[in-house]
Amino acid sequence: MATATATLEPRVKPGPTKLLINNQWVDSASGKTFPTVNPSTGEVICQVAEADAADVDQAVSAARKAFEHGPWRNKISASERGKLLNRLADLIEKNIDELARLEALDNGKPYKVAKAADLPLTIACYRYYAGWTDKVQGKTIPIGGDYFCYTRHEPVGVVGQIIPWNFPLLMQAWKLGPALATGNTVVMKPAEQTPLTALRVGELIVEAGFPEGVVNLLPGYGPTAGAAIAWHHDVDKVAFTGSTEVGHLIMEASAKSNLKRVTLELGGKSPNIVFADANMDEAIEGAHFALFFNQGQCCCAGSRLFVEEKAYDEFVEKSAERAKRRTVGDPFDSTTEQGPQVDDVQFEKVMSYIEAGKQDGAKLVAGGNRVGNRGYFVEPTVFADVKDDMKIAREEIFGPVMSIMKFKSIDEVVDRANRSEYGLAAAVWTRDIGKAHAIANRVRAGTVWVNCYDVFDAAAPFGGFKQSGIGRELGEYGLQQYTEVKTVTVKLPN
Ligand code: NAD
Ligand code: MG
Repeated sequence: MATATATLEPRVKPGPTKLLINNQWVDSASGKTFPTVNPSTGEVICQVAEADAADVDQAVSAARKAFEHGPWRNKISASERGKLLNRLADLIEKNIDELARLEALDNGKPYKVAKAADLPLTIACYRYYAGWTDKVQGKTIPIGGDYFCYTRHEPVGVVGQIIPWNFPLLMQAWKLGPALATGNTVVMKPAEQTPLTALRVGELIVEAGFPEGVVNLLPGYGPTAGAAIAWHHDVDKVAFTGSTEVGHLIMEASAKSNLKRVTLELGGKSPNIVFADANMDEAIEGAHFALFFNQGQCCCAGSRLFVEEKAYDEFVEKSAERAKRRTVGDPFDSTTEQGPQVDDVQFEKVMSYIEAGKQDGAKLVAGGNRVGNRGYFVEPTVFADVKDDMKIAREEIFGPVMSIMKFKSIDEVVDRANRSEYGLAAAVWTRDIGKAHAIANRVRAGTVWVNCYDVFDAAAPFGGFKQSGIGRELGEYGLQQYTEVKTVTVKLPN
């Protein structure tokens, strides 16, 4: 591990810290607030209004009113919704530097990465869905008899959206983009670790001219505000991104309340398969990126790294070397590749997995320790000779801990790759196009990357097989989750 050196001062102040309900910034009904913490220092940045069930009720009725009686459904055309989304994208672009700084401050990700990746992807997502608003079309259907039959794709209604802390701005865009494009109204809960950028975007939403009640933002905790959304009888759909554990709770809440539609983007333990015939330098750098990007806090991280026996020793040696060169430090330092984990809970969890790896007899070839004594920094860590049944090979670590495993044949690696309760992503590195497609067909995962990793585009759908989720986000597929199909049949005079 290397230490970063050149500091770029944060120079950013938090924007709004209250709840956004009906286009008004309000305190929570209880008057309570909670602290949001800078993970680089462990210090409190500021207090934020803490939403709970009473605030969820308020926000849901504002969203309901906006959906049933507001201009959003009754006056604003589909193409005008597109204009509003484009205006929001323009405003985010205008404030790109401030938002990147705020994201780095609240989340701990390097400012340079936020500005070069999170922000452009966020802006592109809003623009992509702005383009869809007037292109969501039904069909005319030739049914029997003298009837005219057609379908309409209508918004689902009031949508609850619960998002995580690993890509705060981007997850907000993935959720708001398709929901607003199709004419829904939204009650969103940002993650308690990272509420600040979502609230700043709330200010831009109002500035862009979205009518009151269309987007409501409720910072707060999961078991209180989050659960109130999931259990609410007047919420028509809930979209959730986070842990598989909470995904189960969301479905249960839907089942036991009003059968609201549920879409889930959950965890992963994604296989990244490297064949000996791959371009080895690219595969090593690609596997490093696949695991360590975003402090290892990616649902699709390539966290089960299978390397073909013939290339194994070289791969392990060079991967350890690369991890040791990774610069860890201040997110506002221009040379930093890796900032802190998002909070003390995640930090402790990652350290406990490193301990489990050692206990289970995996070979530690890089890292393994905390960095410094302030903030939540972890050394880029690499374990070799990992076995499939070890804890670090089965459970989602969500941190900078790479697990390398050895394989001999295609059939063997496909079986082992698929032996997981998850199915979010997978990748294969090889120069043999036949092998690449065979793996792409046989691996049970929602996304397969060939000779690349973490390539995201608003146009390409993303989501999980098995316990990695239900439904797809992004792309045209993402729209289906935010519309109901209505069949209209008209008797024709004969
Ligand atoms: P989490 O699932 O608890 O939190 C995600 C979101 O859900 C947050 O907004 C949280 O407030 C909310 N939430 C929590 N409990 C809830 C409940 N009972 N009802 C409704 N909403 C609730 O995730 P976490 O505790 O922050 O992290 C734990 C693990 O989850 C991580 O280590 C990682 O493995 C996984 N995770 C995955 C993703 C992802 O992108 N899929 C993102 C964050 C965390
Ligand atoms: Mg939690």
